[in-house]
Amino acid sequence: MQFIDLKAQQDRIRDKIEANIRKVLDHGQYVMGPEIKELEQRLADYAGTRHAIGVSSGTDALLMPLMAWDVKPGDAVFTVAFTFIATAEVVQILGATPVFVDIDPETYNMDPIKLEEAILRVKSEGKLNPKLIIPVDLFGQPADYDEINAIAEKHGLLVLEDAAQGFGGVYKGKKAGSLAPVAATSFFPAKPLGAYGDGGMCFTDDDEMIGLLDSIRVHGQGSDKYNNVRIGINGRIDTLMAAILLPKFEIFQEEIELRQVVANRYSDQLKGLVKTPFVKDHNVSAWAQYSILHSERSKVMEGLKQEGIPTAIYYPKPLHLQDAFSNLGYGKGDLPVSERIAAEVFSIPMHPYLSKDDQDQIVEAIAKYAK
Ligand SMILES: *Cc1c(COP(=O)(O)O)cnc(C)c1O
Repeated sequence: MQFIDLKAQQDRIRDKIEANIRKVLDHGQYVMGPEIKELEQRLADYAGTRHAIGVSSGTDALLMPLMAWDVKPGDAVFTVAFTFIATAEVVQILGATPVFVDIDPETYNMDPIKLEEAILRVKSEGKLNPKLIIPVDLFGQPADYDEINAIAEKHGLLVLEDAAQGFGGVYKGKKAGSLAPVAATSFFPAKPLGAYGDGGMCFTDDDEMIGLLDSIRVHGQGSDKYNNVRIGINGRIDTLMAAILLPKFEIFQEEIELRQVVANRYSDQLKGLVKTPFVKDHNVSAWAQYSILHSERSKVMEGLKQEGIPTAIYYPKPLHLQDAFSNLGYGKGDLPVSERIAAEVFSIPMHPYLSKDDQDQIVEAIAKYAK
C-alpha cells in the first residue's frame, strides 16, 4: 500500500504526458516555453484570479511576493508554527522576523483572535514594523480569510495565502489561490496538483504585483534582458514541468472530488476511534493530507506499519521549536495548541485512487491499535 499513489494517476494519463514531453523536446524551448503561459492561464481561470505566474517551487512562490513587497529586516511577518518550514523560512531569508501565531484546535489553521493579539503586542513593543500575514491552508483546508483579511485591513497589513496544500480547496464559494491579495502554491510531486519535479505558482488580481513578480522571476530584469532594475532570482518554472502539469490539471477537479469521497469514508468509519479532521461548513478541503490525532500516536503508527500501512507525521516539531528559528527566542509552552497537535498528529494514506478495500484495511488496523 502506498501513502500517495502517483502511479495510479500516471497510468490514466501517461499517453498525454508523454505526448506533451515529446512536444517540448521537438520545439526545444526548455526555458519559458509556451506551455508555461498556457498553464498560467488555465490555473488563473480555475482559481478565479486575473493573473498567475509559474515559478520554480512553492518556496519561491512565497519568497517572490515578499521580495516584491520589500519585506526586510525590522519587519514582522505573522504566520503559524504548525506548517512546513518554507512558510517561515522565506521570512528569515529576507532578514525579517517571523512572529508565530497559535492555531485553532479544530482546524489547525491560524487562530484569528491570537493573530490580532500578536499584532497588538508587536505594535505596543514598538521594536518591529508589522508588515504582513501568511496564513496557511493546512492539510488542504482554507484558513479563516474573512477574519484575517479584516484584521489585516484594520492594522494596515498585507496578506499572502500559503496555498501549497490548499490549491483545489474552496472557502465560501471562492477557490484557494484567490483568498488573499497574493497567493502561492506548490507543484511538489506529493501535493494535490503535483509535477514530476519542483514548481510553484503565484496568483493575484494586482497588475503591479504581477509585473514585479514577472521581473523578479528573471533576475529583476527590466524591459530588456540585460537591463536589471531590481534584485531578483532565477525563479522560473521549467517548460517540461508545465507540460507535465497540463494533462494532470485536466483531471485535477475530478481528483479533488475523489479525495473528498475517500475523506468522507474515513471520517465516517474512524469516528470515535481517533480525532478525525474538522472541516468548516463553508470550506471544501483539497485533502492534501488526511491527518488524525491520537494520544498514543507511536503505538498506533507502529501497529499500522506492521500491517504494511504507511503513515507520516506532518509536523512533529512546530517551527518555533526548530533550531533554525532559535534566534527568535521561543520556548516550549509558547504555542500550546501547536505543540499539543504536533505531539498527537499523524497522517494516513490519502490520494484519489485509494481503493475501498485498502481503506477498510486501514480503518480495521486503526481500530485494532487505537483502542
Ligand atoms: C510544500 C509546502 C511549501 C513549499 O513548497 P515547495 O514546492 O516544496 O518549495 C510551502 N508551504 C507549505 C504549507 C507546503 O506544504
